[in-house]
Amino acid sequence: MPDDPKINAANLPAIRDHSRLWRQNRYVYPVVSRRAYGVSIGVNVNPSKACTFNCVYCQVNRRVKGPAEPVDLGVLIRELNEMLEWAASGDIWSDPHFAEVPSELRRIHDIAFSGDGEPTVHRNFADLVQIAADVRRHHRLDRAWLVVISNASRFHTQSFRRTVPILRANNGIVWAKLDAGSAALFNRINRTTTSFKRILENIEWLTREMAVIIQTCLFRLDGTGPDDTEIELYIARLRRMLDLGGWIAGVQLYSIARSPAESNVAWLPDAELTTIATRIRDALPELNVEVYGGADVPPQESGGTTREQRN
Ligand code: SF4
Repeated sequence: MPDDPKINAANLPAIRDHSRLWRQNRYVYPVVSRRAYGVSIGVNVNPSKACTFNCVYCQVNRRVKGPAEPVDLGVLIRELNEMLEWAASGDIWSDPHFAEVPSELRRIHDIAFSGDGEPTVHRNFADLVQIAADVRRHHRLDRAWLVVISNASRFHTQSFRRTVPILRANNGIVWAKLDAGSAALFNRINRTTTSFKRILENIEWLTREMAVIIQTCLFRLDGTGPDDTEIELYIARLRRMLDLGGWIAGVQLYSIARSPAESNVAWLPDAELTTIATRIRDALPELNVEVYGGADVPPQESGGTTREQRN
């Protein structure tokens, strides 16, 4: 589909630039996202790089420590207001960084909590989401999604559960990480003290509360991609969520986009991602399964401070 703007836009600098740093800003940054099909206003509330996982493919450079201080709510409000005003006014397209973005992608698709760690680690996470919701309303961005990109490790906490009604009232959606079908592979990939059982229960619970997109990173670990048994187990996890009445708004499969710190991790070619997607669709035809491949180009060298592939 050569006319697909998602594909044509893939090589634009604004899309290939995954940086969470934007000029003088501490928390808020804009990205043009193929996956969002428009502009995503990112909110990185984890300059400290705090995370409950230590994924083998993580691209956050934790050798360099970030500032471990609470989020400055005043700065967050100011940066969000300035960014949304700039984007909503259209002035953003005059900036050389975004000047080549095609008209099809010139819209604010979402405000997304996605940064250099797990956003839900903050005890006042609901307050942070409420701020984003208020600013979104103030700028009348009724169609923009309010997105939380999370590893699902803290959905059971009171601080996260206070967030759910705010998301539901503000076109909210959660992108939850599920990288494995078995506890064994989960432990090898995500390297966390949180149990796989807890992650599954958390996602099962949240899908019964609100729309959730399952985000799955597939890659070769020690030279091997996920085998048949692993994919069957993964499908069984999704099937159980649906059987329990869960709302899975989509499944996103992707591979690593840049070279991770761990040398035993290698990207999975698009053809293999597509084959796995077909298996999931055959087993669960009610699910919308999308593949975000790398257009069969080798991953870029890591720039350091980035996390989930949002493009
Ligand atoms: S990839 Fe995301 S969840 Fe995994 S360690 Fe990095 S920031 Fe944490």
